[in-house]
Amino acid sequence: MKLPTKTFDVVIIGGGAAGLMCAAVAGKRGRSVVLLEHAEKLGKKILISGGGRCNFTNINTSPANYLSENPHFCKSALSRYTAQDFIALVEKHGIGYHEKTLGQLFCDDSSRQIVKMLESECQSAGAELRVQTSVEEVQRTAHDTFFIETSEGSLEAASLVIATGGLSIPKMGATDFGHRIAQQFGLRLTPMKPALVPITMTESAQQGFGDISGVSLDAVAECAGAAFREHILFTHRGLSGPAILQASSYLSAQGTITLNTAPTLDFTSLWQTQRSSKTTLKNVLAQHLPKRFVETFCTVYAADIADTPFSNLPLKSYTALTERLQAWEITPNGTEGYAKAEVTVGGVDTNELSSKTMESKKVRGLYFIGEVADVTGWLGGYNFQWAWASGVAAGQAV
Ligand SMILES: Cc1cc2nc3c(=O)[nH]c(=O)nc-3n(C[C@H](O)[C@H](O)[C@H](O)COP(=O)(O)OP(=O)(O)OC[C@H]3O[C@@H](n4cnc5c(N)ncnc54)[C@H](O)[C@@H]3O)c2cc1C
Repeated sequence: MKLPTKTFDVVIIGGGAAGLMCAAVAGKRGRSVVLLEHAEKLGKKILISGGGRCNFTNINTSPANYLSENPHFCKSALSRYTAQDFIALVEKHGIGYHEKTLGQLFCDDSSRQIVKMLESECQSAGAELRVQTSVEEVQRTAHDTFFIETSEGSLEAASLVIATGGLSIPKMGATDFGHRIAQQFGLRLTPMKPALVPITMTESAQQGFGDISGVSLDAVAECAGAAFREHILFTHRGLSGPAILQASSYLSAQGTITLNTAPTLDFTSLWQTQRSSKTTLKNVLAQHLPKRFVETFCTVYAADIADTPFSNLPLKSYTALTERLQAWEITPNGTEGYAKAEVTVGGVDTNELSSKTMESKKVRGLYFIGEVADVTGWLGGYNFQWAWASGVAAGQAV
């Protein structure tokens, strides 16, 4: 083993949301901190998040908004660093923000402000931030510290924080480094899959709906007991849109998604009010739902009655069609994968970690924070809130 070139209290690997937050908090406590990021700049996912405006938290954050093999794990960190705490930090830096929908807070201007804020917090805390630095090897020393061989020399630290994120968007720098470190030290991983991701369907399962790519509508998407009311979007290969992305996190290999494509439409009163109408079924439905969707839906499921004047419609056929509109079962054959996923479900088994500090129960001084751990938030600012909260939890402990 080579002699260490520099010793720190804390080495953090990964300069994203969780790593930067952890570095700032640990630095403020007077710990000597270095953060290593292999990409050319920090916080790349923050920069692209929320369409460039970073949905940095959600004011309704609660443990119920997270998936994990152990749903209780996230409670402690989330209760000790809340959305209000992060909002206070944003306000301290004079960053304007607004609530878009469902408690989701976005920057008025740009995600860049969040990265700048975190960098400035790290700077004032004296934490050293190194970009374009890759880690070649991590070893445990005889005196229970960590020896870290990097492209820019070797380091030694009593605490090593892994903040390398999930597997989504590899072209932006995502790696399985954190998972490999966990395995190297004997920590279990839970099964992983892309989540908050568009779903794909075979051409035959699509039944022509690929042709209405770009059409979106308000719907409820239900999967494995979880239901989300937001927009769905037809794509060439399947379905996307916030409600589908949310449902995708709950989707298993052979699973299905049930869509209510008309959640606010009262089909019983529609039947009564249109009873003597000469307008065709298709045109009546198109007064309430997107026309191209209605046309395709009727072609696939109700070709025999689509052009029938409403007054001549058999109730049985009408009921069958409307029931399907409100409980339409979709069978995906997969997802668009990590290339398009916002997050990874699964990761370092939280049973291996302290929920108070994020420290490994097996290996003293080794911490896992943010998305690398098996805690996955819903769409809507919850993933960043987990990154901040777990980063603070470790930052206060290292
Ligand atoms: C397109 C997109 C939009 C999103 N929008 C939102 C949103 O608006 N709101 C929200 O809450 N969540 C959003 N998310 C999810 C959110 O970005 C992540 O959950 C969050 O960034 C996780 O924080 P993290 O610090 O754990 O990981 P990351 O932010 O991914 O940071 C990990 C860092 O580690 C670095 N790294 C990886 N391997 C190594 C290595 N071997 N050596 C050194 N460095 C390494 C990476 O380059 C990266 O900088 C979005 C995700 C995507 C992909």
